[in-house]
Amino acid sequence: MSEVIRQEPAIDGWFATDSSGSPYLIGSRCPHCGTYVFPPRSTNCPNPACSSDTLESVALSRRGTLWSYTENRYAPPPPYPAPDPFEPFAIAAVQLADEGLIVLGKVVEGTLAADLKVGMEMELTTMPLFTDDDGVQRVVHAWRIAS
Ligand SMILES: [Zn+2]
Repeated sequence: MSEVIRQEPAIDGWFATDSSGSPYLIGSRCPHCGTYVFPPRSTNCPNPACSSDTLESVALSRRGTLWSYTENRYAPPPPYPAPDPFEPFAIAAVQLADEGLIVLGKVVEGTLAADLKVGMEMELTTMPLFTDDDGVQRVVHAWRIAS
């Protein structure tokens, strides 16, 4: 494994950090009908009853309730990076508190499906996904059981 020189998001523009250091997801909202979108984009409201082609960038709720989850027990195929040896991990679908939008994400290390229950309060965090050959640790948004 490479030595970590710095951290960068695995995908630019999906999350940011507020002044207290807490991460939040960046989504989009239609100013005409109020529909939320994640991942963020600047055009094409997904509401079939709305003809707006402009979406605004918004900060999304940091908390939500666990809507569904699963556990991945098989290493994903390349090009998705997977540690060797592979460690099972949970994936959560969390319904955001204010927006109602359901956002998928990995669940932090140490929490597997047996620890999860639909309806639980979850909160956003971040976690390393992998470290590339240049020592850049790529970080993704993730869910953890809310404290
Ligand atoms: Zn709309």
